[in-house]
Amino acid sequence: MSDPVLRRQTRQRKVIVEELKKLTSHPTAAELYEATRRRLPHISLGTVYRNLALLGRMGVIRKVEGPGPEARYDGNVDPHHHVRCVRCGGVADVGHLPDSFQEDRPAEVGGFEILGVRFEFIGVCPDCREQQATGTGPSKNAEDQQGQ
Ligand SMILES: [Zn+2]
Ligand SMILES: [Zn+2]
Repeated sequence: MSDPVLRRQTRQRKVIVEELKKLTSHPTAAELYEATRRRLPHISLGTVYRNLALLGRMGVIRKVEGPGPEARYDGNVDPHHHVRCVRCGGVADVGHLPDSFQEDRPAEVGGFEILGVRFEFIGVCPDCREQQATGTGPSKNAEDQQGQ
């Protein structure tokens, strides 16, 4: 049995997972669509969205929870924490955390058995920091001189 529609869907899903696992930038669906389109020129953004939702439910990929208008996705499903940029919304992985972060966690909160903890750091990413440092606009001195 080789249903051509089914085969195409399987291939699309495979490419989406491969491209997502290659990226460490936690892309939005639109960003992942751009990457996927290089290999599958006829794929649609809707197909990418649908597959991301399905793959997330299957546990093959992870949807990065958090604020922001657009969901971001992670090909790394191993437990790890994130740091999110308050300026551009970019998300990066946090490497090693002190063991106390893992060990001090309560076994029960409000009657819930606690299975894990999910939080994210918030900060300003290297790119945005550079922009902050260089993009300060015209200096005060230049304005003063023009006014004289
Ligand atoms: Zn940023
Ligand atoms: Zn991640």
